[in-house]
Amino acid sequence: MGAASRCRESTAEALRRARRLTEGEVGGYNLSMKMSEFVQNERIVQEIQNNIETGRMPHAVIVEGAKGLGKETLVRIIANACVCRGNTKPCGECSDCRKFMSDCHPDVKYLDGNEPSGLSVDKIRGIRQDAYIKPNEADKKVYVLLGCEKMLPPAQNAFLKVLEEPPDNVVFLLTATSATALLETVRSRARVYSLTPVGIDEETEYLQKRFADKAYEEIRNAAENSMGNIGMAVELLENGGEEAVLLAEEIFAAIPARDEYKLLTLTYKMIKDRAFAMAVTDSLLQTAGDAVKASVGAQYRSQCAKDAAEKMSGKRLYGILQTLYKAKTVLKTNVNLNFFCTWLCATLRT
Ligand SMILES: [Zn+2]
Repeated sequence: MGAASRCRESTAEALRRARRLTEGEVGGYNLSMKMSEFVQNERIVQEIQNNIETGRMPHAVIVEGAKGLGKETLVRIIANACVCRGNTKPCGECSDCRKFMSDCHPDVKYLDGNEPSGLSVDKIRGIRQDAYIKPNEADKKVYVLLGCEKMLPPAQNAFLKVLEEPPDNVVFLLTATSATALLETVRSRARVYSLTPVGIDEETEYLQKRFADKAYEEIRNAAENSMGNIGMAVELLENGGEEAVLLAEEIFAAIPARDEYKLLTLTYKMIKDRAFAMAVTDSLLQTAGDAVKASVGAQYRSQCAKDAAEKMSGKRLYGILQTLYKAKTVLKTNVNLNFFCTWLCATLRT
C-alpha cells in the first residue's frame, strides 16, 4: 500500500483531523513538540522520557487532569515518540515523525470520547481486532483514546479484554479528566500520570515567551486567573481578555437598575469557564474600585465607573466592592459555576 492511499481518509476523519490540528494550536501543541518542551510536571515527563529511551514503555498509560493542563498535548508527544526512529525521540525529522506531524502515520490511531459514539463498544472492538495485526511501519502501534471519562462500562469491559493480554508492540494512551471514571480493572493495568497546575511564576514565564507582544500585566493577570492552568491562560489571552472586559462593563451598567432578569442573563454568560468567570470578576472589581474613587471625587479611569458613581451611593458601591472581593475568593475554590452566577447576581442586586 502506498503512502498516498494510506493517508486517504473519509470526510469524518478529515474533519476530526482538522479539529485535532486547530485544537492542537490552541492547546499549545505545534505538532513537532519535543518532550522537553512540555513545560509542566517535570517529574512525569522525565519518567516517560526514560521509559521511551530504555524501550520500557508500559502497554497502557492514562494521563488524567483538568481541562487545560495539557493531557492531549502530552499523549501526542508520547505517541510521536513511540513511532519515531530518531535518536532523541521524538526527533521531529525522521520520516515517521513527518508522517505523524501531518497526522497520517499508519500506526497511530485516534478515538475521541468527545465525539458521538467516539468510544463506543463497536469502536473499541475495532481497535481490539486491529491491535493484533503487526505495525505497518513503526516498531509500535499506538492507540490514542481521548476523553475516556466518557467511555461507558460496556466499552471499558471490551477494552479490558485487550489490556489483559496486550500484544507486545502496542501502546494505548488514554486521557481522562479523572482516572476514577475508569473501572478499577482498567486503571490497575495502566500507568496513571496525574497532571497538576504549575506555579504562577512558572506559568507567567511560559506565557511571556509565547505571547511576547502582550503586556506583562495582562499576562500576569491571565496566569493568576487561570491558577496555573496553562491551557486556560492561553485561551484567555487569545480570546477571553477583551470579551471579559466588555461583559463586565455590561454587568456594571445593569447593577444600578437592580433589574434581576437583565443581571441574571448577563452574569450567566460567565458560566463558560472558571478562568473566564475570574477574568470578568477581575474586571468588575477594577471598575468597582474605580467607581468608589469617582464617588469621592478622586481620579477614575473608566466612564462606566463614573456613571455608576453617579447612580449609586458610596455605601452601595463599597458593598459591591466587598461582594466582588468575596466572589474572587469563592471562584478560587471548586464552586459550581451555575451556583456562583446565581449567587453573584442576587448579591449584586441587593
Ligand atoms: Zn523522529
